[in-house]
Amino acid sequence: MALEKVSCDFCGSTNNIIVASQTDLLYKTTNELFHVVKCADCQLNFTNPRPDKDSIKNFYVQDYSFHNTRNYIKKLFDKIFDLIANSYFVLIFNPFSILNPYLIQRIKPKVSDPVLERIKIFKKIKKQKILDIGCGSGTNSHFFGAKGCLKYYKKFANVVGCELSETARSNLNKLNILCYPSIDKIPISENNFDIIRMNWSLEHVDKPSQYFKFIKEHLAKDGMAVICIPNNEGHVYQNYPDCLELPIHFYHFSIRDIFKYAEKYGLKIKKVKTFSYPGLYYFSSKFYPSLSHYKNMSIFDAWKMNRTLNKSNSENGNDLLIILGL
Ligand SMILES: [Zn+2]
Repeated sequence: MALEKVSCDFCGSTNNIIVASQTDLLYKTTNELFHVVKCADCQLNFTNPRPDKDSIKNFYVQDYSFHNTRNYIKKLFDKIFDLIANSYFVLIFNPFSILNPYLIQRIKPKVSDPVLERIKIFKKIKKQKILDIGCGSGTNSHFFGAKGCLKYYKKFANVVGCELSETARSNLNKLNILCYPSIDKIPISENNFDIIRMNWSLEHVDKPSQYFKFIKEHLAKDGMAVICIPNNEGHVYQNYPDCLELPIHFYHFSIRDIFKYAEKYGLKIKKVKTFSYPGLYYFSSKFYPSLSHYKNMSIFDAWKMNRTLNKSNSENGNDLLIILGL
């Protein structure tokens, strides 16, 4: 593995202090210790040093981030469990702990997908043109699921993908979806995307600044950019700081960081929302020692937690959704 030392992507500073050190507890690809540093000048948190372009591939497990397609039976079960988990009906299943892994991870707050909302509204007025950066294989998406992916969006909109994984790109090819391997391969003439989305992908990129610049240059005049990322100032990261996804998360953003990037690249903030779901605690309890007490969470506990964590309009949700415009 080759490591590279990087300067701050936002301000260029090389002054930083270590704020966390951890190995890959989640995917167990290595025992190597990685460090998260905080820029002494602008406070951006980033992994440093980090595996270089060639080495980082070794830390992505094969089924990472929905790069794989799903079969029909699994899809059907997903649908059934999703329906149960998001109704009061789920409480009936509290005594059946055997169902915990299937139901708890699906108990979620209602966060509507801004992309789907917009393309449905506009489908007859002006078919929207979407670019999904880090789109995976286009058949599923983190949090928004099977209706938050390019294959589904294609029913209502013109879709284009951008994805590093070659396997994922060949899947998209089969779906007749144009997909670029990186943003620098997207022609400058493609500058009228109504929607540019980054669904939990900005924390993985080499230089976030390039993406803000890209959005500024490629978004249509009244277009929107939807960015979803982990919120480094969210409840879980503040209380259990070892829950980091290292080394594959290069950046650990706060709301403030995104505001600063938006301002620097001339983008306006249209919406900010943070949210949490109990499945993160339940799933992570197997990997992170500090969360091990969540292993015994019941369906009722998860249901209560979902209500508590998402009750107030607070800024400490574990995930962050931001909509930007020109
Ligand atoms: Zn900085």
